[in-house]
Amino acid sequence: MPTKKVVILDRDGVINADSDAFIKSPDEWVALPGSLEAIARLSQAGYRVAVATNQSGIGRGLFDMNALNAMHLKMHRMAAAVGGRIDAVFFCPHTADDHCECRKPKPGMLQMIIERFDVDPEHTPTVGDSLRDLQAGAALGCPIHLVLTGKGRKTLAAGGLPEGTRVHDDLRAFVLDFLADAQE
Ligand SMILES: [Mg+2]
Ligand SMILES: [Zn+2]
Repeated sequence: MPTKKVVILDRDGVINADSDAFIKSPDEWVALPGSLEAIARLSQAGYRVAVATNQSGIGRGLFDMNALNAMHLKMHRMAAAVGGRIDAVFFCPHTADDHCECRKPKPGMLQMIIERFDVDPEHTPTVGDSLRDLQAGAALGCPIHLVLTGKGRKTLAAGGLPEGTRVHDDLRAFVLDFLADAQE
């Protein structure tokens, strides 16, 4: 029986460099060192990789769907070029004022991913650089992992992380730890 295995990743600050001015175009979308190779390791180990990303820049009118699609096409192509595969990208286009159910820390996007792939949350790790990524995962009972790229160091310094949060230098370090644990 095939094992369905999924890892949920935040995008900005985990896969690509984050910016307080938002990532608004494919040119501004720059992969963090080793992140795409880390995704490739997950793909090759049989994991599906799903991205869940707040993109309120759409709701704020800073960029449009064409730009977001172009960024994600670049992400998919660059991952594929190193042997990785991003199986799904879920995004929330809303601002906090919209009070939607998908914007993290709400768990709506993660819930959709878990339903789409029909997996157990307790076996579906969630990786992020912000508290709200961890809160969304914790709300569903996902194992939660903080990376220290992007806003990660600030997030760690601010404290108040959900119980059980594990901390890694970056996505590469997470993947190496995670795959080593999975083999035990
Ligand atoms: Mg982030
Ligand atoms: Zn939303």
